[in-house]
Formats: sequence, structure tokens, C-alpha cells
Amino acid sequence: MSGQEISHPLVKDGWFREINHMWPGQAMTLQVKNILYAGKSKFQDVLVFESETYGRVLVLDGAIQCTERDEFSYQEMIAHIALNSHPNPKKVLVIGGGDGGVLREVVKHDCVEEAVLCDIDEDVLKVSREHLPEMAEGLNDPKVKIHIGDGFQFLKDYKDTFDAIITDSSDPDGPAEALFQKPYFELLSDALRDGGVITTQAECIWLHLGVIGDVLKAVKASFANVRYAYTTIPTYPSGQIGFVVASKNPVIDLSKPVRNWTPEQERKLCKYYNSNIHSAAFVLPNFAREVVEKSLSA
Ligand code: SAM
Repeated sequence: MSGQEISHPLVKDGWFREINHMWPGQAMTLQVKNILYAGKSKFQDVLVFESETYGRVLVLDGAIQCTERDEFSYQEMIAHIALNSHPNPKKVLVIGGGDGGVLREVVKHDCVEEAVLCDIDEDVLKVSREHLPEMAEGLNDPKVKIHIGDGFQFLKDYKDTFDAIITDSSDPDGPAEALFQKPYFELLSDALRDGGVITTQAECIWLHLGVIGDVLKAVKASFANVRYAYTTIPTYPSGQIGFVVASKNPVIDLSKPVRNWTPEQERKLCKYYNSNIHSAAFVLPNFAREVVEKSLSA
């Protein structure tokens, strides 16, 4: 069916409204030019539309996953904070990330020899390849290996294998629920080699301090060195999203990159990330710092 004929319950009067119980009483709205795809996969509701001002938008179960205009903020920070916190990341795993954006960032590091992606939903890869080519290019890199399956189950088969594991998952109230809980972080730690690093999508300090505190405690049970960082991104709820960053190296200061591109390389490779913003991302406002420190000292 052509774009004009496709409809979706969250698109009314020409506007997409991100009404969701995870951010009660507020909703990002984006003006819709036309809907490119709407369907139900085995795991989630999948919607892709062309917006008037943010390019193409991927929505899963009613939550914006990425827009062409601002996705680089999130993809660059969750990938480069992890990879620049390791001296020589050769083998990298992305759990989730089916739009390909994080992989696109991972392969910018020449030291990476292999990047494995495990996403539960092949429909996300399919619609991304068809409608979000600037992100999906990451799926086609020669260093990349794709696996379709549950990240939690996938990890059970890997011990002492990866230098960095990036969990680019959707929110905890869907197929990603297990990826925010303690057993998952135990699997992550076991799958990492010595000195291995993780970053994981960790919600928003304006909305989810409870969830963030719980995730930090769960990570702390398996990692001696745990921090919280965030980035600004207009189309995520409250314009911000955070990451839990952890390392098996107990002494490294995760807020200071151990590897840097030159300023010229940074400008060429990234629209958001640079070594200063890597460090700045860990500087938290008092109300958030209090919860993070309390959770990590519990
Ligand atoms: N950047 C987005 C965010 O911060 O919300 C996430 C984007 S990415 C599209 C999220 C991916 O996580 C989806 O493709 C979804 O299929 C995948 N996912 C959810 N649960 C999963 C699981 N248990 N194992 C592997 N992938 C999962």
C-alpha cells in the first residue's frame, strides 16, 4: 500500500504522539509527512514514518527509537564512550541495535576486527535496511556478523570473548525486560575478556531515577567499576538519555578516554562525540548524582 493509505493509532490529524505509560503526562509529537511502514513483528509493533522536520523515524511499541536528524547523538555516545574506554577493542558485541546505527559507529574504530550484532527482531533490520539506509549501512560492514535472537540467551554461549559489549536495547517493558536485570549483567561480565567494557541504554534522569538506581545496583553486583553518563537528544523523552558504563578494570577512570582521535579525525568521524564531551557526559546534576552515588555505594 502507498504511504498515504497506511494508518497507525498513534498518528492522528497528521501528528505522531508518543503517548506512553513510561513517561506519564507528557508526549513528544512529530508532524508526519507520510507513513512508510506499519506492522506487528513477532515481538513488537513496528512503525516507520517520514516526519516534517526530523527525517525518517523508527518507532517500536509506541516509543521513538531513532530519527534521522538526531540519532547520531545517541549512537556515537553509547559506542565511543565504550570503545574509547578500552586500550585496544578488537571484538565487539552489540545487543539490540537492529537499526544498525551503533554498528556504524563501532566500525569507525580501525582496531575493531569483528563486530557481532544480536537483535531479537529481524523485522527491525528489514525495515531499517529499506527505510533508514544511513543507519542500516552499519549492518553491511564486512567486519559485521549478524545474529537474530534474544540477547540474554545469546550471551550464555560466550565466555571471555568480547572486549566491549554495547546494549542498545529498547525500554524494559517489552522484549528487552531481561536486559535491565542482574542475571543479564552477570552474563555480560562472563562474556567479556579482562579489561572489558560495557555500555547499556539506561533511560532518563528526569523520568526514570528509580529504574536507573536499580540498574546501577544490578551492574554493581557484577562489575567493580560502574559509572553513569548521558547525552542530549531532542526526540527522546525529556530530551535526554543515559548510559550505564562499566569496566572489568577496577581502576580505570571511565570519564577519561584511554584512546583519542585527533581533533580533525573527531570532526570527520563524529557529529556529536569528542574527547571533551566524553568526560562531560559523566558530570551529573545534583538530583541525579545523589541517586547514582547512593545506588553505587549500597
Ligand atoms: N536507541 C534505541 C533506544 O535507546 O531506545 C534502541 C534502538 S534499537 C532499534 C532497540 C533494539 O532492541 C530493537 O531492534 C529490538 O528488537 C531490540 N531488542 C529488544 N529486546 C531484545 C532482546 N531481548 N535481545 C536482543 N535484542 C532486543
